[in-house]
Amino acid sequence: MTRVSVPTIDDGRPRTDALLHAERLCAARGVRLTPLRRRVLELVQARTEAVKAYDLLAQLSTEDHAAKPPTVYRALDFLLEQGLIHRVDSLNAFVSCDHPGSPHAAHLLLCTRCGRVEELHDAELDAVIARAATTGGFRPSRARLEVQGLCAACAAQEAPLKPRA
Ligand SMILES: [Zn+2]
Ligand SMILES: [Zn+2]
Repeated sequence: MTRVSVPTIDDGRPRTDALLHAERLCAARGVRLTPLRRRVLELVQARTEAVKAYDLLAQLSTEDHAAKPPTVYRALDFLLEQGLIHRVDSLNAFVSCDHPGSPHAAHLLLCTRCGRVEELHDAELDAVIARAATTGGFRPSRARLEVQGLCAACAAQEAPLKPRA
């Protein structure tokens, strides 16, 4: 079996596809994914559940990154601006975007049992929200739903849903 060469980070660890994709996006946009920004992104990407800023700070404090809270918040702001992560408002936490590079509303499905967060993309839903919001002359700038419930795996452990009549 031939091994493809995997691009690695300065310390020799392999880069994931998601991280490589983010690096390419930043390079194409002419913005800098500094080592700290990249490490913060990597930590968020490594989790299926939302990550709080203080968890990131705790993790980073065990590494060489001189990570003071303002630095980490600025790194998170950068990643949000670049659409590489999303904020989970109801949890005051962050998740990585599953397909950065294309603008989207990123509605979120939050599992209340295991904490898994998934993105929900539905152009029809976006259109319904836009139509309903603008009816009275309101001009929406951002609309993102957070739906709480059970992810497919957790739901499978519950009693099965009754088939609709
Ligand atoms: Zn996204
Ligand atoms: Zn779950």
